[in-house]
Amino acid sequence: MNCRHCNHSLTKVFCDLQTCPPSNAMVKPELVNHPETYFPLKVYVCEQCWLVQVDEIERADAIFNDEYTYFSSYSSSWLAHAKKYADEMTSRLGFNENSLIVEIASNDGYLLQYFKEKNIPVLGVEPTANTAKVAREKGIDCIVDFFGSAIASERLLGKADLIVGNNVLAHVPDINDFVKGVKIALKPNGVNTFEFPHLCKLVEFNQFDTIYHEHFSYLSLTALKSVFEKQGLEFFDVQELPTHGGSLRIFTKHIEDESKEISPSVAAMLQKEKELGVDTLTYYSGFQEKVDEIRNEFLSFLLQAKKEDKKVVGYGAAAKGNTLLNYCGVKANDLIDYVVDASPYKQNKLLPGSRIPVYHPDKIKETKPDYVVIFPWNLKDEISVQHNYINEWGGHFVTAIPNLHIL
Ligand SMILES: [Zn+2]
Repeated sequence: MNCRHCNHSLTKVFCDLQTCPPSNAMVKPELVNHPETYFPLKVYVCEQCWLVQVDEIERADAIFNDEYTYFSSYSSSWLAHAKKYADEMTSRLGFNENSLIVEIASNDGYLLQYFKEKNIPVLGVEPTANTAKVAREKGIDCIVDFFGSAIASERLLGKADLIVGNNVLAHVPDINDFVKGVKIALKPNGVNTFEFPHLCKLVEFNQFDTIYHEHFSYLSLTALKSVFEKQGLEFFDVQELPTHGGSLRIFTKHIEDESKEISPSVAAMLQKEKELGVDTLTYYSGFQEKVDEIRNEFLSFLLQAKKEDKKVVGYGAAAKGNTLLNYCGVKANDLIDYVVDASPYKQNKLLPGSRIPVYHPDKIKETKPDYVVIFPWNLKDEISVQHNYINEWGGHFVTAIPNLHIL
């Protein structure tokens, strides 16, 4: 197996989470007697370009199919983040009715709606037909396909003033062709921004539950520099964001475009990564041990609660929770009674692998559990405030990452 960017042979394992089904493959109740397919989940680091990556074990179109149940608009903090981005970018770059904003993985139009409100033309590129349909109902036009050099040449050649992608860069199997598509679709003075969870936060805060099959790469600025430069694009700014446990937002432009100043933030972040040791193997060794410690801590907590006859449930049928539950080997009718999720698309289905049932959040009020484990820990504050009524019966919220914490 070779590096998806530089083709160097991959031999160094960063983290091995054994096998599990794809994290977003919720099981419908009528399929409860059907088997699920388990795939290995092993992460490597390339010693030549430092891209951290999983093996491509399944074709991406088999994962991002019409059963894909992630609808962005269900998180209010994420919507606020999207709106802020639209406001900031519009004032910084001065878009108007002659501009074109392209979003890659535009989902249900959660972000483009804020540009559309300002009468700036928008176009989404979204591979899942069911989410694209919801976007179209909001009047947001979408190309239903995977973004790459082919779609860029056919439909977007040099047309985009802004190409935005939030939490998509890490989900791309062919990262070289994807970035080549950006190069093709951008106007000569166009701007591209991508947001992605920062590898350095994953390592620092033990965020191993952000590892799943749909997430092909775990990105540092160091590794991306080589990916973008190979396609003739360069960074001109980088921002640190609190989203998803610590993300980076990169700003790129054509290397030939001299109209933009390169912010000192770029060199500063590269230097910071160098000081952490991102370009050394030592940085990546020892992560597996931390992962196993977290698994043991979480299982000890669940077993102790069981012994004390306490009821434990989960909040959020997110991919993160599935990685954690499957690596810990927790199953239905065992240590966690059920999981609730605000999205109707997930309710009354079973979690992949663990097969824990998913219900409407009202189930918590009915059953008054002692502990509610928040799986999407990045939304911990929002969820614990929204559901603070569990205090009425002495319930507690729990998070497992970066370490077991009972709130
Ligand atoms: Zn490489």
